[in-house]
Amino acid sequence: MEMRMSERALTWVEVDLDAIRQNVRVLRAHLGDGIHLAAVVKANAYGHGAPAVAQAALAAGAEHLAVVSVQEGVELRQAGLTAPIVILGYTPEWEAETVVENGLAPTVTRPEVVLALSQAAVTRGTRVRVHIKVDTGLHRFGAEPREALALRDLIASLPGIELEGLSTHFASADEADKTFTREQFALYQQIAHQMPEVRLRHAANSSAVLDLPETALTMVRIGIALYGLYPSLDVSRDVPLRPALSLKSRLARLHGLETGDPVSYGCTWRAQRPSRVGLVPCGYAHGLRRALSNTGMMLVRGRRVPIRGRICMDQCVVDVTDVPEAELHDEVVIIGRQRDGEITADEVATQVGTISYEILTGIPPRVPRVYLQDGAQMEPPGI
Ligand SMILES: *Cc1c(COP(=O)(O)O)cnc(C)c1O
Repeated sequence: MEMRMSERALTWVEVDLDAIRQNVRVLRAHLGDGIHLAAVVKANAYGHGAPAVAQAALAAGAEHLAVVSVQEGVELRQAGLTAPIVILGYTPEWEAETVVENGLAPTVTRPEVVLALSQAAVTRGTRVRVHIKVDTGLHRFGAEPREALALRDLIASLPGIELEGLSTHFASADEADKTFTREQFALYQQIAHQMPEVRLRHAANSSAVLDLPETALTMVRIGIALYGLYPSLDVSRDVPLRPALSLKSRLARLHGLETGDPVSYGCTWRAQRPSRVGLVPCGYAHGLRRALSNTGMMLVRGRRVPIRGRICMDQCVVDVTDVPEAELHDEVVIIGRQRDGEITADEVATQVGTISYEILTGIPPRVPRVYLQDGAQMEPPGI
């Protein structure tokens, strides 16, 4: 009998593509008509699996995909995706041919790259579309305002290259105080008014889409909200989002402890009473942060059970003394829902002093991704 992935793997990620579609739809409705939605699927779609998420987002009404590198764009093309792909990160001149061959739209901030792209497109008898990114205060990636205007003139003077987009990125749109975001937006608008020919004007990330929809312009770049999480506690929760990712495992051993028996490396926890503990074959090399040792919780039979002792590379132990009905091979939920219980990526992130983004992107490729669509398992595209 052939087993499905979620039955075969001991630890796996479940991605609910219906949640991705639903999130795209509610975000679209919130934005109104005429605004292009770019699904940000960098870092393997925040750990969810880029080809499958990209396909689901496009099916639900996203028009563009956004990645951070040429490599990520090529991987989407190899998986069969034909939608426009904008590269948000720095593309060096030596990637010009790959960009053109794969029909990617890079972000440019240097004339040398513009020249290389024009040349590569002319050589292949085609055109390349580019976006200029202007640094309005994040002081990370981007061109100074006057450099941006010079780049526009250079692009206009060259064959095979076309200015499709003008972007900027906000430093603190996820904070309650939007003063700096408004300043950045005003500066962006000043520059944009000098480039009226640019079709795709984009500044807003998830935070700006949720809190400042007036910054949506003609395109938005939505990452974390696509995956069903709010960017921070300060951002509005009026748009109902549904988390798409669950991290699951199965009890691999159940055994009893006597009072005083230690658990795991370093004997950092000892049973305070006769106890029953369960082995979970998931550790820090599956993205389960070691800082959750002796503090994290998991779900077994819908109930919250504490992690006991240190989290190891591939295993950890939970206390199921208060869940006497727990059995070998029971599903364990590390992130996600089970019956009435829920552990969110935000909860885990808060416990270890980080943000949900780092928890999601920290689940390595060795953990198999299982996709659910219309409630049933499906194969991802291109694999
Ligand atoms: C990652 C990223 C986004 C998406 O940010 P979210 O907060 O996840 O919506 C948007 N724009 C740029 C330039 C990015 O790097």
